[in-house]
Amino acid sequence: MHKVSVIGAGTMGNGIAHVFIQNGFTVNLIDVNAAQLEKAIQTIEKNIDRQIAKGAVTEEQRKNALANLTTFTDMALGVQGADLVVEAATENIDLKLNIFKQLDSLAPANAVLATNTSSISITRIAAVTKRASQVIGMHFMNPVPVMKLVEIINGYATAQTITDAIVALSKQLGKVPCVVNDYPGFIANRILMPMINEAIYSLYEGIAGVNEIDTIMKLGMAHPMGPLQLADFIGLDTCHAILNVLYEGFGNPKYAPCPLLTNMVTAGYLGVKTGEGFYKYTAGSKELVVSDRFSS
Ligand code: NAD
Repeated sequence: MHKVSVIGAGTMGNGIAHVFIQNGFTVNLIDVNAAQLEKAIQTIEKNIDRQIAKGAVTEEQRKNALANLTTFTDMALGVQGADLVVEAATENIDLKLNIFKQLDSLAPANAVLATNTSSISITRIAAVTKRASQVIGMHFMNPVPVMKLVEIINGYATAQTITDAIVALSKQLGKVPCVVNDYPGFIANRILMPMINEAIYSLYEGIAGVNEIDTIMKLGMAHPMGPLQLADFIGLDTCHAILNVLYEGFGNPKYAPCPLLTNMVTAGYLGVKTGEGFYKYTAGSKELVVSDRFSS
């Protein structure tokens, strides 16, 4: 595999494009929004400059990497000649099913179609194509250039040869692949989201405050970030949506989102991206300040 098309130039898409171009792959980065593509190029340049400042990358490598990147707003043009398509568009089932239907007719017949979805069934996405054996989950973690893990998800019909190829490719990117099967939440979110939900329940029931909950998990369990801070970072709407996928997928009330989480999402307190969740965020400041709603 040499030629990769990445669909969606948001938070994840620009990071995925970044690691591929730095490892010698040719990347067509595709987004419906031209402004998002410009922003993605700026983000990639800024992140490579950060790597240069740390001495991890040379100016020559920067030049070579950026020369591997082309942007497109037209998916038909952007997937021409692709060996692999990695879809990282907005987490919305109808949108993704529509993209995969189009990809099936636009991408070369032998191309592998991967999705970076956090929670949508790979089997369901694969089922709208005529090449379900070539569809696979490639779940990168945020921030992509920094995080080593790629959770590789086999759909029900994914061929072993495709899994093997994607495992080898992930290693070529300097990542550590872990292969799992396609059930709600896969592994990462099936384990992470109930922990976050339990932390929110502990706050909701008044068992402890935001600081206490996060400090116990940081210092007691050696987690780099407490679960409430992590939820703010991921986005409370995203956490809520993934918990609902687990709840509906397994039909088990143990996954139902905590009513406090539901209230916060309904009110638009989504964490870092809206400036307030369990903590308050001020641009330019790294200080962790508990939201007034939870400080006693
Ligand atoms: P984002 O909102 O930052 O970016 C999504 C991009 O997709 C936007 O730029 C949007 O313009 C583009 N887009 C929408 N429809 C499109 C279409 N039809 N064709 C091309 N581009 C289109 O979202 P994100 O956080 O980068 O998430 C992308 C995917 O990665 C989601 O499936 C999400 O679940 C998954 N993911 C996110 C994270 C995370 O921490 N943000 C982590 C792992 C996986």
